[in-house]
Amino acid sequence: MGEKAATSEVINRLISALGDSDKNIRSSACEALGKMGEKAATSEVINRLIIALADSDSRVRLSACQALGKMGEKAATSEAINRLISALGDSDNDVRFYACEALGKMGEKAATSEVMNGLVNTMADKDRQVRFSACRAIEKMGQNAVTNDVIDQILLDRGFKNDIKSLPIDCSFCQWTGVLNNYQEHLDEHHSNSTCEYCGEEFNSINKYKEHKIS
Ligand SMILES: [Zn+2]
Ligand SMILES: [Zn+2]
Repeated sequence: MGEKAATSEVINRLISALGDSDKNIRSSACEALGKMGEKAATSEVINRLIIALADSDSRVRLSACQALGKMGEKAATSEAINRLISALGDSDNDVRFYACEALGKMGEKAATSEVMNGLVNTMADKDRQVRFSACRAIEKMGQNAVTNDVIDQILLDRGFKNDIKSLPIDCSFCQWTGVLNNYQEHLDEHHSNSTCEYCGEEFNSINKYKEHKIS
């Protein structure tokens, strides 16, 4: 069996696992597909992950967000983007966090006014880390000149006096508040190592820390 055939065999098995009655199997299947990344980004897989975004189990929903994020621009279909926008209103903090992350990774195709409006709303989320991930997704999209103009226009329309670099942001680790443009510097200076409050393990990136916390 060639590598390609082997890959599609694996993908087919993972697709059936997404329909398993055991939620742990469904979320592991999402995780495995996410690990395969772009290689697994067939339209069937993307459609199944979109269905998983509406799963009754929050762990499955968040793994589906993560998987779509890892597939990045390849998963940026309008259906996937719309469902991720809905996921910004999920009842689970971690699902909202990873929905922001996924949208941020989808690049230009996700830089629509619907997405931006969703992310701008999410910047007022009750959870600090979710607010942070919304800001970061907006910042990531703003690194592209075209999307940067789209974002600035939306912010202007929404009554913001500032451009994205001067958006207010709260640190997810301490009481620091400032603007987006200075946040990375703050993170590097004060939180280059974050320590888990439960087990004491240290992390050098907020994403690794977040992944550790929910696993
Ligand atoms: Zn801080
Ligand atoms: Zn820990």
